[in-house]
Amino acid sequence: MNLRLMSHTLIAALLVLWTGVAATQPPPARISPRNDLSVMAREPFQVFDNLYFVGIGEVGSYVIETSEGLILIDTLWDLDGYTEYLLGNIRELGLDPMAIEYVIIMQGHRDHYGGAPALREILDAQFGTHEEDYNLMVSDWGEYAPEIDFFIEDGDSLTLGDTTLNFEHTPGHTPGTTSIRMTVYDNGMPYPAYFHGGPAVRSDDPEVILQFIQDLERINQLNDVQVQIANHFDIHAQGAPDTFGRAAMLAERGPGDPHPWVDPDHFHRWLDELIAETRQMLADAQ
Ligand SMILES: [Zn+2]
Repeated sequence: MNLRLMSHTLIAALLVLWTGVAATQPPPARISPRNDLSVMAREPFQVFDNLYFVGIGEVGSYVIETSEGLILIDTLWDLDGYTEYLLGNIRELGLDPMAIEYVIIMQGHRDHYGGAPALREILDAQFGTHEEDYNLMVSDWGEYAPEIDFFIEDGDSLTLGDTTLNFEHTPGHTPGTTSIRMTVYDNGMPYPAYFHGGPAVRSDDPEVILQFIQDLERINQLNDVQVQIANHFDIHAQGAPDTFGRAAMLAERGPGDPHPWVDPDHFHRWLDELIAETRQMLADAQ
């Protein structure tokens, strides 16, 4: 080994040691136009009697209000300012973050779970996610992955006061993607809602893609669903308004006008398009 090679080897060894030390803390998410709060901060708003949007311009986070406290769905990013932003949004809606009893994480991508460790320090809540996505968080963050109190499996339900969430395992975006069926209320009128935890497959494994399609087809057979809830602003059928377009319609709604989220035709049109798109991916993957 010549001297130059030796010095390179030494530097490489030192780098391994150094990154070994650095790995004791998760690397911060990179600030991008998708998550920069100076661009992405949004006014929180009430969607239904029992559902509130508290997310950012790109990614959703929601609060479900029950007779016995609140349930937070997803925790946004781990960047500076996010904890204050999320809790501030909840307070701005007249809700008390300390009333959050459960935090549900629908998928193990950090735009959905990144805020969880910091929220754990503040909230007195139980955190739940699918075990496979907990494993994803651990492979991403090691010992700094958020602590999880309970694993959610397909068919599980969670009841808090007058509200029950029914969980479905809908893998494909991540191995443990969890979706929620629940009832939302508009001026007391109940509407069955479907909240998909990751409606875009992220795999080139034909088996995974096929299972994702079969799940979507099953969901598309749910004829009682009237409301689609989305965890990214742009998850909707072609030509339909996005989350904030609907929010503007909701804000301007007159008495007797329909609720812009109550739209069963849209729900099925969105699924038809998503199934067709994903079938094309499957054809390309085979
Ligand atoms: Zn994701």
